[in-house]
Amino acid sequence: MSIDVREYLKPHKALSLEERLGLVKRRFADESHITVDQDAFRADPTKAVLFMCPAQVFKLNGEDGSCIVNYEDCLECGTCQVARRYTTWNNPQGGYGVTYHYG
Ligand code: SF4
Repeated sequence: MSIDVREYLKPHKALSLEERLGLVKRRFADESHITVDQDAFRADPTKAVLFMCPAQVFKLNGEDGSCIVNYEDCLECGTCQVARRYTTWNNPQGGYGVTYHYG
């Protein structure tokens, strides 16, 4: 197999977050494996959890100031577990979650 160097050197198409998340194989459980202490979230002026997640799982609910958790998009990177800013993260139920393929 030969490689077309010109094709290889072309800039890669920029994908949106939704397109990138669509490339990850996931199986959703019915219940969230992530919980947020809503009182602590509301009391945090920085709302830091909204900015730490690469998949943007955490969203501000503009109506009541709570934190919406779109756990279906979780990539299981562990960032929110390490930061532990009023979030509790558990492994998804057996058989659920993301599947990564290497190589
Ligand atoms: S584990 Fe990573 S991807 Fe999942 S919610 Fe936490 S920060 Fe986001």
